[in-house]
Amino acid sequence: MKISSIIETVKKEVESYKVPVVDLIAIQTKDPFKILVATILSARTKDETTAMASARLFKKAPDLTSLKELSEAEIRSRIYPVGFYNMKAGYLVRLPQALEEFSGKIPDEIDSLLKLPGVGRKTANLVRSVAFGKPAICVDTHVHRIMNIWGYVKTKTPFETEMALREKLPEKHWIEINSILVAFGQSTCKPVSPHCDRCIVESSCQKIGIIPRRTKPQGNKARSQNAKTMISWNVNGIRAVEKKGFVDLVKELSPDLFAVQETRAQPDQLSRDLHQIDGYTSYWHSAVRKGYSGVAVYTRTEPLTVLYGLEDDRFDSEGRVISLEFEDFYLINVYFPNAQHELKRLSYKLEFNNALQDFTVSLAKKKSVVICGDFNVAHKAIDLKNPKSNEKNPGYSPEERAWMDRFTQAGFVDTFRKFDPEPENYTWWSYRFNARARNIGWRIDYFFVDPASDARVVGAKILKDTLGSDHCPVQLVFK
Ligand code: SF4
Repeated sequence: MKISSIIETVKKEVESYKVPVVDLIAIQTKDPFKILVATILSARTKDETTAMASARLFKKAPDLTSLKELSEAEIRSRIYPVGFYNMKAGYLVRLPQALEEFSGKIPDEIDSLLKLPGVGRKTANLVRSVAFGKPAICVDTHVHRIMNIWGYVKTKTPFETEMALREKLPEKHWIEINSILVAFGQSTCKPVSPHCDRCIVESSCQKIGIIPRRTKPQGNKARSQNAKTMISWNVNGIRAVEKKGFVDLVKELSPDLFAVQETRAQPDQLSRDLHQIDGYTSYWHSAVRKGYSGVAVYTRTEPLTVLYGLEDDRFDSEGRVISLEFEDFYLINVYFPNAQHELKRLSYKLEFNNALQDFTVSLAKKKSVVICGDFNVAHKAIDLKNPKSNEKNPGYSPEERAWMDRFTQAGFVDTFRKFDPEPENYTWWSYRFNARARNIGWRIDYFFVDPASDARVVGAKILKDTLGSDHCPVQLVFK
């Protein structure tokens, strides 16, 4: 196998891809401290999340001296929601003391790096190569996987791969191989359904142990057959609704995407059944405050990327937004703030709404956008039973309605109203006064699409007979 020529080909190919976050931080800062910290944060975490968490942490702690000043709780809140954030906050709070053995400097030898909290072989190799430019082979899961798919090594673990590569991989590739194959593994040679159909090294690849992606038929007919069904539901506590049969409901309705709001749970509080519904992968963005807010999406198709929050510290600790990017659209799942009694949180809500609209507009410049969730506002008089008596109340205040006016005047389409102009269509009912049975409700849960995607809406409805929460689900069919 001509490994050097294959690596050079892939290297050229990935030059146009997104740079892995740790390399990006290395290029931008050339700072071993930041590279080490970002590498620790990046384990089991998407690049976008690592980038945001690193930025929040480095704002307050750009070096070892300032990191010493932070409590574990503050570190935790700044790095949330990276994977294993509790454990990683513990590693980082112990880092300054552990580095005293090395005179407060990040060491460049593997054995010394391995003595630091949270540093395993992969991190040690990555820091040595990326931060210090010294020969080391970092073996990320992508390197281990792709080298075995190519048949260049036959190994069972990343450690075995590292040792095998030390024996046979020309040293000129040691430092670069990790970032090349991470970029390639995230974009083309994906762990599930790799894109062999568009792969630049397909003719040299032995494809050991992989199942290539099935290519979709083209054309309008195929496209309409590929319409996706999406459901959005404020579950008012995912653990409570689990006891009422949530998992069976997802299986029964069987949509392509199931978005939930007000999950009110941390990922480590979820049962295995909730995490892993057959046929779906789930993505969660929880609030830092326990038992509060939170959103999640179950998806049948693996997203290209997942964005957690709005990249805005004012809102992201409340776990209100999660966005999944697919080939030809984004799904933004949102739990809007409640303006609260006497409109105490109205200004916060309006700031959130404006930030959300800016975020949505920026994504809509790239591809179609579907925005779903609990907007916590009835837009027009037709959208609630008693508009007159609620005119100054949260959820129907003039300011909240004015924002909805601006949102729709910007061209965003309320998909339900495309199909049903009638009154008495609601999605939320108070638990008091037997309101649901008497249909004294509000329509505050929506599916919107961006102005350019109106023609892709095939159908929209309210699933008013689904019980289990004070809201009912809403549905969109989108082609
Ligand atoms: S041909 Fe397929 S399996 Fe082989 S490297 Fe390319 S994407 Fe991966």
